[in-house]
Amino acid sequence: MKIRKLFRLKNIYPYLSNESAYLYGQIQGTYIGLLLVSITWFIYFMSYLLIGDRFLMYISGVNILFFCLLFIYFMREPVQRKVIAANAMLAFLFLNAYPISFLTGGLNSSTVIWIALFPAIMVLMNGIKNAVVWFVLTVILFISLLLFKSTGIIKALVSRGTETDRFLDIIMMTFTTTFIISSIEISRKKTIQKLENVQEELRVLATTDPLTGLLNRRFFIELAEAEIKRSVRYKNPLSILMIDIDHFKAVNDNYGHKAGDLALMELSSILKSSLRDIDLVGRYGGEEFIILLPESDKRNSLLVAERIRKKIENTEINIKNSEILHQTVSIGMAESNPKQQYTLDTLTLQADKALYCSKNTGRNKSTAWKEVL
Ligand code: GH3
Ligand code: MG
Ligand code: MG
Repeated sequence: MKIRKLFRLKNIYPYLSNESAYLYGQIQGTYIGLLLVSITWFIYFMSYLLIGDRFLMYISGVNILFFCLLFIYFMREPVQRKVIAANAMLAFLFLNAYPISFLTGGLNSSTVIWIALFPAIMVLMNGIKNAVVWFVLTVILFISLLLFKSTGIIKALVSRGTETDRFLDIIMMTFTTTFIISSIEISRKKTIQKLENVQEELRVLATTDPLTGLLNRRFFIELAEAEIKRSVRYKNPLSILMIDIDHFKAVNDNYGHKAGDLALMELSSILKSSLRDIDLVGRYGGEEFIILLPESDKRNSLLVAERIRKKIENTEINIKNSEILHQTVSIGMAESNPKQQYTLDTLTLQADKALYCSKNTGRNKSTAWKEVL
């Protein structure tokens, strides 16, 4: 019923937003760990049943019961407390492994291989600091096994089924470690993917205007400054266009703010599609746009400006269901060339003046900046 659901990654994944990847890895690892440990004990139980070793059969039986109960408990715990449950499981496994290894042959027992895995599992589950403690504990345990040697029970048990034990151990250990490491790898990959997505979202938020998708003013300035430096260094011309929509306030007044937004989006996409990849286009203010045309002189830039102006003039903007809007723009242009090199501030000021001139002489025009303006 619930078990299949719980194993689905996306079921645990939402918690990642407020919990660390560690927790995610711990939960994944513990689910798989608990299940595998239960299966392992079950296999032991069956083999001891076949061999007819009652003592080890009981030990296996108690373990199966314990891990099944722990598994159920673990599934029901709220996510935050699952970490405690996971660590309780590991601590129990460790405490469990100690007497078993002691009773089944000390350092010769196959159980010590499981104990040797503990510090490594702890690094993955709880980080390096915690793992150091477990490493020390493990070493102490090995030393104690070395010091307190065999009794009659040990010899009796060791003489049975040692090879089968070893084989089972090796197989189960390979499975367990592979599963645990894989689960942590999955969580690591997911986390990295999520971080990359967030990074990309942040990059878009920081550099573009949300309504139009054009560069925002700040990022436009950053890119434009770099472009201007390059043009000065290589002595290339470069131009700035300032574009302002004519009587835009009327659109808002007559059709509503939403329709105004639609018109802004439509005009922005016209701007984008009319320019080369290397051109920069940004939203400078409310209904004002700014364009930088690298390696483009006055004559060329005026052609571009006129092309844009005419394209917008001839575009039918669809607002609301059937209402069609015609919009025009006024454009101002300023050029920097090897003979007269200007800063971005100066160029925008000049382009703004030229734009003002377009507005004052009838709108729906392109004007290039001249000294006399
Ligand atoms: P002009 O031809 O002189 O430029 O006239 P105008 O009406 O375009 O000029 P004005 O600067 O007076 O008005 C600009 C208007 O643009 C005012 C404002 O409501 C509108 N506007 C600015 N940003 C947005 C926006 O993001 N969405 C919408 N819908 N309207 C905007
Ligand atoms: Mg305007
Ligand atoms: Mg304006």
